[in-house]
Amino acid sequence: MKKLYKKLQLQRLQKLKALGVQYIEPPKEFQEPPLTLPNSLKELAKIVQQCHLCELSKTRTKVVFGEGNPNADIMFIGEAPGASEDATGRPFVGRAGELLTKMIENVLEIPRTQVYIANILKCRPPNNRPPTPTEAFACKPYLLKQIEIIQPNIIVALGSSAYHYLTNDNTPISKVRGHSIDFNGIKLVPTYHPSYLLRNPSAKKEAFADLLQVKKLMQQVIER
Ligand code: URA
Repeated sequence: MKKLYKKLQLQRLQKLKALGVQYIEPPKEFQEPPLTLPNSLKELAKIVQQCHLCELSKTRTKVVFGEGNPNADIMFIGEAPGASEDATGRPFVGRAGELLTKMIENVLEIPRTQVYIANILKCRPPNNRPPTPTEAFACKPYLLKQIEIIQPNIIVALGSSAYHYLTNDNTPISKVRGHSIDFNGIKLVPTYHPSYLLRNPSAKKEAFADLLQVKKLMQQVIER
């Protein structure tokens, strides 16, 4: 078992190298991330706070781990922190965050604190550019561990980056939005990113319909 584990770790490191990931010497006061990630959000957050697996660790102000109910039925997954999130260390607190909060509280009719909110990337890409495959690949184990710990029934993928990097499917978000897709036994519903909705208010009606679909799934979970 140990041998297999070492082999898988080696394959992972080789894949990272092939993707162009370069080892960055962490500052002396930081510890190396362990090879296995802990099964506690608190312990995981401590490791992510000290992550230096990609170049974004050089430019970030704060790591944005994620926040919310550790026993949430629903997880919302966005793309990456923006300026307000980088400054505060909290996900979705800028203008897009305000809209996301309204979508959760006014359409799903649950408090934002009842769900869990995280991103594909834990650090802000400069000028809010989309995540690169290298960054997403380096950061993905943290998100997968968060999902494993929280065990949500439903994941809402916000926007094409979140959908693509979670599922490895390149189908345009306009084609998959509102559908319930199996993601390792969890119902994954893609919808438009709140930032897209701010730029394209006419798409809000579609996002509203997608959230009604999520609400229906939520009710099925409660009735089970
Ligand atoms: N956009 C995202 O995708 N995530 C955030 O946390 C904020 C804005």
